[in-house]
Amino acid sequence: MAWRTRFAPAPTGYLHLGHVVNAIHVWGMASAFGGEVLLRIEDHDRTRCRADFEAALLDDLDWLGFVPDIGSTDSFRATREGTVQETRNRARHQQRQSDNDARYTAALAMLTERNFTYVCTCTRSDIARLARRATGEEPRYPGTCFEARHADSKSLARRVRMAEGVETFDDGRHGHMQQSPAEQCGDMLVRDRHGQWTYQFAVVVDDMAQDIDVVIRGEDLLESTGRQLRLAALFGRERPMAWWHHRLLVHPDGSKLSKANRDTSIRERRASGVHAATLLGEAAFLSGLLPAARDLTIDELPTLFQAHVSPISGW
Ligand code: GLU
Repeated sequence: MAWRTRFAPAPTGYLHLGHVVNAIHVWGMASAFGGEVLLRIEDHDRTRCRADFEAALLDDLDWLGFVPDIGSTDSFRATREGTVQETRNRARHQQRQSDNDARYTAALAMLTERNFTYVCTCTRSDIARLARRATGEEPRYPGTCFEARHADSKSLARRVRMAEGVETFDDGRHGHMQQSPAEQCGDMLVRDRHGQWTYQFAVVVDDMAQDIDVVIRGEDLLESTGRQLRLAALFGRERPMAWWHHRLLVHPDGSKLSKANRDTSIRERRASGVHAATLLGEAAFLSGLLPAARDLTIDELPTLFQAHVSPISGW
């Protein structure tokens, strides 16, 4: 049986070269080692995500040639446009996070029933003050509201208790990892005071609901893995997961590319007349998959990955 991975962009802007690097790894590993790719639109943050960015993202994926095995770009368009397909697609896939409120509400209720959550009334500035740490260190929530035991009516914000203890996992690229969520971030916010689900919560619930076996993403999310495993364990997830955190895109001089860099937007590159194969080759080169920039087609991905990486055990 095929294992399953996902491509999970957030439509907070246009698709950029960093997304292409991720897509190359996701589709490359799936095609090289017998996996299937699910497309998930991670639009849990309603203040930053936009329907026009999603439309552009779907269009750019089609143009680049990345075809999901589950959740076609057309099925996402159909649910937006409210066509006849809508009800059927919603029932079958539910892959856009803003359509998944009921799923997250049920997941939160499950954790609450088991006394893993509490109401948090801290504002952003409270948290900044409480969580002050050394420069460069991640802010850690000290559990202030856990002690306070506020009534549900006080705020929509909920945190999940992170008990002390180490989470271990093997990353395909980084090897054996040990992380302590209680030490790194403290009790995790799962819903904010405006009622929005957080990335960490929604991603764990979806990875479970959608039977994701392998997570392939940039190494900027490596530190999130321990806490996601912890959350999944609180839900009782038994299905094992494998992880691959790939290199991020860097300029040839070693500096990091950011979304703000206009030169990375696929929209603009397309408008300037570039070919998809040229962009794929550029992304593969800038993330260390090719020794030099050259045109690269999607059909070459299986061979590229077979030559580059060894399959994680269990694939
Ligand atoms: N939506 C996240 C992003 O665009 C990806 C999350 C993940 O792969 O876990 O960065």
